[in-house]
Amino acid sequence: MSSRREGLILQEPPGERSPAQPAPEVPAVEVRGASKKFGSTVAVDDVSITLGRGEFLTLVGPSGCGKSTLLRMIAGLMEPDAGEILLAGKSVSSPGRWVPPEDRAVGLVFQENTLFPHLSVSGNIGFGLSRRSKSQTAKRVAEVLELVELPAHAGRYPHELSGGERQRVALARALAPEPTVLLLDEPFANLDPNLRAQVRAHTVEILRKAGASALFVTHDQQEAMSVGDRVAVMGRGRVEQIGPPKTVFHLPHSHFVASSLGEAYFLPATYSGNGSLHTEAGPCDCPHDVSGTEMEIMVRPHDVTFVEDDAGGSVVTAVEFLGAFLLYEVQLPSGRRLRCLMPHTVEVGPGAKVRVQLDHGHVPVVLPVPQP
Ligand code: ATP
Repeated sequence: MSSRREGLILQEPPGERSPAQPAPEVPAVEVRGASKKFGSTVAVDDVSITLGRGEFLTLVGPSGCGKSTLLRMIAGLMEPDAGEILLAGKSVSSPGRWVPPEDRAVGLVFQENTLFPHLSVSGNIGFGLSRRSKSQTAKRVAEVLELVELPAHAGRYPHELSGGERQRVALARALAPEPTVLLLDEPFANLDPNLRAQVRAHTVEILRKAGASALFVTHDQQEAMSVGDRVAVMGRGRVEQIGPPKTVFHLPHSHFVASSLGEAYFLPATYSGNGSLHTEAGPCDCPHDVSGTEMEIMVRPHDVTFVEDDAGGSVVTAVEFLGAFLLYEVQLPSGRRLRCLMPHTVEVGPGAKVRVQLDHGHVPVVLPVPQP
């Protein structure tokens, strides 16, 4: 934990120096063409994004794609090589202009425990409010403790809290100075899987109640989609696609985006007229005339079903028991393999002969065949 980070989390209340909360129409964050290189590594490459007020945006993508670097540039922990960053409509970073992190009115929450072990819960939350009077600090600490539902824990020390409670205190501390934006870098990564979903839901509830604008970095696809009003999929330093989770999940612009948000397979398809595409896993709808194009359709495990059929041409090669569902691997006549998510009521073993069917429930996304 660097002292620079602490300084950022524990900043003075921004309202005392400059108004932290912008007018409703002014975005909380605007990044215009930001780039950052480390030697020959391009970490962030000409990225432009906007975060609206009260909006939650998640940045998701493989390790090393530049998510944390982008977040750190917004926080002021790193200086971009190019581009401009505005917070609440004010430029904080551009060629020739640099506002230090402690003057940016941002709150940070990291995965690691950044609470001071020698301070109580109240002491931790109030630490960054030193420019307020004693009574104002006490009032604000009580408010955020109420918000995170921990008023009874005010006098405890970090080692007397559960992992989830520590995370809520970290959130309270970041929210206490009423920041323009909250930047959360893998905030749930250190929690065990059982606790993780619960703490995540609670965090979202707290942030919504506080009316916060928040940018989350995560490499967890489910988390990105469940938390974000919009999801930005990053790859090799660039934003590959940004939009509501449903759109990015069902209508990815590329194979990369499709695979970044979950298991995806790509089946060669030919247009057979009458609003239909032919694939070796059966037909599917296609309202556009795409004849003459070399294309593939995206298929996710929940888009595929099968029925037992000795003449079906496909064979079950593996079964994974997931409790309520079974995940089947099926080999198609060409040798290509797909996975199908089936209810627990469908039970067949490896070697079963089946006929695969596509059941997207919506128009499938058609992508050009990638060129080698
Ligand atoms: P992860 O999900 O693994 O945390 P990320 O998407 O957050 O990854 P970044 O931490 O932003 O990725 O790193 C982007 C690229 O920049 C990587 O190739 C990384 O090795 C490199 N990088 C990041 N920080 C530095 C640094 N301080 N010095 C040199 N290279 C760096």
